[in-house]
Amino acid sequence: MNQDTPKLLQFNLSGVGCWLAVLTTFMLLGAVGLGWIVNGLLILVGIAIVTPVIGWFVFRWWLKRNLVEDKCPVCAYEFTGFNQTECQCPNCGESLKVEQGHFNRVTLPGTIDVEAVEVSARQLED
Ligand SMILES: [Zn+2]
Repeated sequence: MNQDTPKLLQFNLSGVGCWLAVLTTFMLLGAVGLGWIVNGLLILVGIAIVTPVIGWFVFRWWLKRNLVEDKCPVCAYEFTGFNQTECQCPNCGESLKVEQGHFNRVTLPGTIDVEAVEVSARQLED
């Protein structure tokens, strides 16, 4: 443990020295009349910092709009899917389509969805 402490201190000091060197360079550039380079670099650094933050918020907003949490209509297993996409239930493997915030069954081409209809014997006789 004791051996690590001076190393950490040294690292921190070299970090400060690095920033001091950067600052001195900026000040020198500004003094020479190349302030626009400093401004440009600062703007670039600002963009580099701000862009991921904005991107993260946009991504989260997008996720909130497009993530759909619903139950599988076949086995009632609750999971999340993306809006306007087709996915498969991780529990029963049923192909599902995400529409308007709900999971709907996909009727695959060639499959006929048969609905059982009760037909009374008397109806058949007529
Ligand atoms: Zn399912």
